[in-house]
Amino acid sequence: MSNIEQTLSIIKPDAVERNLENEIKEMFKNNGFSILKEKKIQIEKSEAEKFYKVHETKPFYNDLCEYLSSGPIVVMVLEKENAVLGNRELMGATNPKDAEAGTIRNKYGISIDKNSVHGSDSIDNANKEIDFFFKN
Ligand code: UDP
Ligand code: MG
Repeated sequence: MSNIEQTLSIIKPDAVERNLENEIKEMFKNNGFSILKEKKIQIEKSEAEKFYKVHETKPFYNDLCEYLSSGPIVVMVLEKENAVLGNRELMGATNPKDAEAGTIRNKYGISIDKNSVHGSDSIDNANKEIDFFFKN
């Protein structure tokens, strides 16, 4: 039975700054993802705070929101079979040091805070995050 899902991906400022946008998109396409929607934007810190609200009690929250709003990002809706988990696997572990060979974070991540990509962690959050960036 097919289980087509959509998930939200963000190419973070560290990767956009290093001109990795096309290479990362190629990785998605080569792994069977369709990019249904995409836009390059820069967000306000207040928007980053809303997006990452789930982390508001964490010690890294302020730096994380500063960082996500520090430069252009590319926000995309990705689609494929089991897209949420598939994207998490393709991204690799949060800390690039722990990310498996061949994953985006292993290839391009600099550090736990500059780890090049965001991906939704559940179908519920994927729907919320897609609405956050793409609902009119
Ligand atoms: N993060 C950080 N320090 C930490 C943990 C997380 O700077 O100790 C940042 C990192 O950029 C990560 C983001 O906060 O991507 C969100 O954390 P989460 O645990 O949701 O990781 P992800 O879902 O991005 O793998
Ligand atoms: Mg997360």
